[in-house]
Amino acid sequence: MTPETLARLKAAAGSNGFSEDPAEIAPHLEEWRSKYKGRSSLLLKPATTAAVSAVLAVCNEANTAVVPQGGNTGLVGAQIPFDGEVVLSLARMNKVRAVDRDAHALTVEAGVILASVHKAAADTGLYFPLSLAAEGSATIGGNLSTNAGGVAVLRYGMARDLVLGLEVVLADGRVLDLLRTLRKDNTGYDLKQLFIGAEGTLGVITAATLKLFPKPAHRATAFVAIPSPEAAVKLLREMQESTGGLISAFEIMPRIGIEFVTAHIPAARDPLPNPSPWYVLIEATSAANFDLTTLFEAALGESPLVTDAVIASSDAQRETLWALRENMSEAQKREGASIKHDVSVPVGAIPAFLEKAMAAVAKVLPGARPVSFGHIGDGNIHFNFSVPKDGDPEAFLARWEEIQRVVHDTVYEFHGSISAEHGIGIQKRDQLPRYKSAAELDVMRALKRMLDPNNILNPGKMIVV
Ligand code: ZN
Repeated sequence: MTPETLARLKAAAGSNGFSEDPAEIAPHLEEWRSKYKGRSSLLLKPATTAAVSAVLAVCNEANTAVVPQGGNTGLVGAQIPFDGEVVLSLARMNKVRAVDRDAHALTVEAGVILASVHKAAADTGLYFPLSLAAEGSATIGGNLSTNAGGVAVLRYGMARDLVLGLEVVLADGRVLDLLRTLRKDNTGYDLKQLFIGAEGTLGVITAATLKLFPKPAHRATAFVAIPSPEAAVKLLREMQESTGGLISAFEIMPRIGIEFVTAHIPAARDPLPNPSPWYVLIEATSAANFDLTTLFEAALGESPLVTDAVIASSDAQRETLWALRENMSEAQKREGASIKHDVSVPVGAIPAFLEKAMAAVAKVLPGARPVSFGHIGDGNIHFNFSVPKDGDPEAFLARWEEIQRVVHDTVYEFHGSISAEHGIGIQKRDQLPRYKSAAELDVMRALKRMLDPNNILNPGKMIVV
């Protein structure tokens, strides 16, 4: 970068809008699990849309690459500057701009932390349902750029389903103002959806108008023992029918997962007296005058699919049940090395997929311990493997690509997705061509070339042009 470009970028970002201090830049260069590490000597942190616009105009003119970044909680390396790019942090764009109770809409800037979005919605007596483990540090801009999923997708959809409007700064600095609160707008291409899940490769999201919902006043949560994934799929259908579609979370866990959590997480304990091969955590929400707990008791009590069940009788117990699910990744980490996948297949195909994929992996790496858990209601399984008991972790991890190939090829056979909710970033970029058609890849590249002709926006991520 020339000294002149550097000076122009600093001026564009504003007086507190930049840093060249390695200590301040360092946390922006490393992904939180230390899996990805980048380098950069300039951090820009504009506080307004106008400043983001000015920054990108300079970058575009000077052919200077930028990596947009929110809370730096992404899992596929999309937010990391691997090649000395400028880091464009949206963290200072953290204002709640407007609330429209009649439209059930909340407009926030990209740098607002997801937990703060929840609070802003709650302050108006409404509810924003996107919920995930990193919500205390992830920003809404990052959530939208990665089209985050989480634990309420079954009821409310992915991040892209929760957006009414968007403000985006294009690569050349023009501002695309799509901030609307309309539920019905059939005036052509739905441009905002292009930028959601684009991982910052097509434009920089600076603000969004989000959909709000009535606050769930009553909640029922059950931890249920079932014999198999087939039983889980059938039970989901039963529970949706008996609650009239009020199920908000339906998460599957295998016995080995519960063993890991109770072994490695101090406060965790198995809520049921006898072990079961599989479990589901089921939650439904409704208005206050609707007795979901009684409905759960009846539905689960009558179902022949259910071996045993516990229904939370207090918020504290509910949290204990959720902790089993939420600690599964952490417990697996403490158990030792693991090889992970974030895949989806049609819900009904999950039992067959699990069987086939587990057999295929067992053939390649006998002894690898499958720990398949996650959002079975969305067809999304975190299909992980732990190192064989007494196995060598290094030797196990060296087989990552080989195992992943077997798993992803099986996913493809079932018409599934190799990234259900974490994205592509750098991690799966080179696998994409294997699982997408030439036509699909052509359209993606054409969009990238049109919206970012100088390839300055998060170059090298998701797709190579
Ligand atoms: Zn997940």
